[in-house]
Amino acid sequence: LRPDDNRMSAAEKEFENSIRPREIMDFSGQDQIIENLKVFIKAAKMRDEALDHILFHGPPGLGKTTLSRIVANELGVNIRETSGPVIEKPGDLAGLLTNLEERDVLFVDEIHRLSTVVEEYLYSAMEDYRIDIMIDSGPNARTVQINLHPFTLVGATTRSGLLTAPLLSRFGIKSRLEYYNSETLQRILWRAAGLLGTKITSDAASEIARRSRGTPRIANGLLRRVRDFAQVMGNGVIDLGIAQFSLKALSVDEYGLDEMDNRILSTIIDNFKGGPVGITTIATAVGEEAGTLEEVYEPFLIQEGFIKRTPRGREVTEKAYHHLGRNPNSRGSQ
Ligand code: ADP
Repeated sequence: LRPDDNRMSAAEKEFENSIRPREIMDFSGQDQIIENLKVFIKAAKMRDEALDHILFHGPPGLGKTTLSRIVANELGVNIRETSGPVIEKPGDLAGLLTNLEERDVLFVDEIHRLSTVVEEYLYSAMEDYRIDIMIDSGPNARTVQINLHPFTLVGATTRSGLLTAPLLSRFGIKSRLEYYNSETLQRILWRAAGLLGTKITSDAASEIARRSRGTPRIANGLLRRVRDFAQVMGNGVIDLGIAQFSLKALSVDEYGLDEMDNRILSTIIDNFKGGPVGITTIATAVGEEAGTLEEVYEPFLIQEGFIKRTPRGREVTEKAYHHLGRNPNSRGSQ
């Protein structure tokens, strides 16, 4: 169960789409973002204008794609979806943009992965709703200017740190999605269970929510698996016993930490005596990019009190030692 949608199977994606909220009222949590969006959407509609470009950033599985579709739905326009690495050439971008109708939404997932040339074409599209495309080459080379309908670009990224300043400055609305608390995840689980026609008790929902790494995608994915256990081992109802049994069988961590989270903690403990140690050093040791550690993994570990940032680097807390079954007093003795 990975939060990252690039590693999801087709069946998992289909399941996810089937329970994805389509209306703003079915979207739980991220209250401030929702309140603000409602105002901006209403204002754009009152003025008959395209909504400002939006950037949703934050760790995977928190609802960036879902929110983008909801925005289009609330605006009453079409959404076209693509992603950074798919737009290979400026011509691909021109094709997408010229097909947009007035005020449509163009959703670009993984926008940090746009190539530099494509990104530069996007600037004038976002700013002036026009693109200058170079046709022919050599002595016949010339640019043609194409006017576009006003549109809204909605970009999503897990790595906002990789976005360039000119691109960032062209988003009028920038929202960072936060991890969900367990009450909100419980609500999300209730709704999903309802859609699946599965009964779930509140203590079972609370147990799954607590172990979902603050992430709706993980909560829903666990629900899908636990439902199988309930079906085969019980009477189809997910109660606390079934939930606990299944989570154990699925090796889901007590706190919802995933394999990389645990690897980060044990690396700091085993190789660096619990820290402090610099992020780049940790990154090399666990074989991940420093930026990904900083933007995707570390925020949850810090929020849950497993890691502290200190002026000299990252340090694990006693909670991390206990979680991994290590003795905090043996620091430095290995
Ligand atoms: P992201 O684009 O940030 O990776 P998604 O928008 O694809 O995440 O969300 C992943 C899954 O989690 C979707 O299936 C969606 O149903 C569910 N989900 C995300 N946020 C919420 C929410 N606030 N309320 C209900 N379901 C949510």
